[in-house]
Amino acid sequence: MPNERILILGGTRDARELAGGLISRGFGVITSLAGVTGNPVLPPGEVRTGGFGGVPGLASFLAAERITAVVDATHPFAMQMSRHAHEACSEARLPLYRLERPVWRPSEGDHWINVLSAAEAAAALPPGARAMVTIGRKEIAPFFARQDVSGLARMIEDCTIEAPVGWTVLRARPPFSLGSEMRLMADHGITHLVTKNAGGADTEAKLIAARQSGILVVMIQRQAKPSAIAFATTAALIAALCKLHCP
Ligand code: NAP
Repeated sequence: MPNERILILGGTRDARELAGGLISRGFGVITSLAGVTGNPVLPPGEVRTGGFGGVPGLASFLAAERITAVVDATHPFAMQMSRHAHEACSEARLPLYRLERPVWRPSEGDHWINVLSAAEAAAALPPGARAMVTIGRKEIAPFFARQDVSGLARMIEDCTIEAPVGWTVLRARPPFSLGSEMRLMADHGITHLVTKNAGGADTEAKLIAARQSGILVVMIQRQAKPSAIAFATTAALIAALCKLHCP
């Protein structure tokens, strides 16, 4: 049995799969959740919830729990947690692994406008656009501020700001099917899809639906995260952890 205690920085379906896979191979696992989602789907094994209190808080946690390796399995757009993990692991000389879903790439028939931020995405929408915005609730304000744009804002949690006239807020949790995405876009007369380039299969159907419906995609690009030993799939990461940490 490996004598390892792994901290998984979670908040994603991949992180849940990873926890299950590592536990079944005998690793000690704690998954950490930010605590921003009400009723989160919990991973198997031990779970802690809430911020650590920056890099010093995370460093104390790693020492107190005798963590031997950290896996950053946060969402590709969770930048701060990844930076903190990098700093705390460097200080503690602990290995830092990352589950890094490959980015989505445009296929034939796609019409993408690549932008760097939510503000840039909102500015890229032409007057009169009917946008389907699927970037969560935290960065929705620049879209609601566009008085010449309307549409549908989809998010997991309640919206904290009031939607202006012309906007519908839809609370929903992935995965989504191609059929339901096609219907949603048609029902709301969508002309533009706004999304983060999160990658992964759970939310990819909206891109296929946009392609098949001739809808323009405004794609928010990922920023590079700090260095870590990165793997594209949970299977590859589990195999590497077994090889490296089970002598
Ligand atoms: P963030 O900006 O990278 O992190 C903000 C702060 O939240 C961190 O400094 C940390 O607080 C705390 N935090 C984040 N992830 C944590 C975790 N797994 N365990 C404990 N504390 C955590 O993160 P975010 O973009 O707000 O995302 C929050 C969580 O939602 C992440 O875990 C991410 O995987 C998930 N998520 C994010 C997105 C997205 O688009 N950003 C989408 C889907 C899911 P302290 O400094 O106090 O430690």
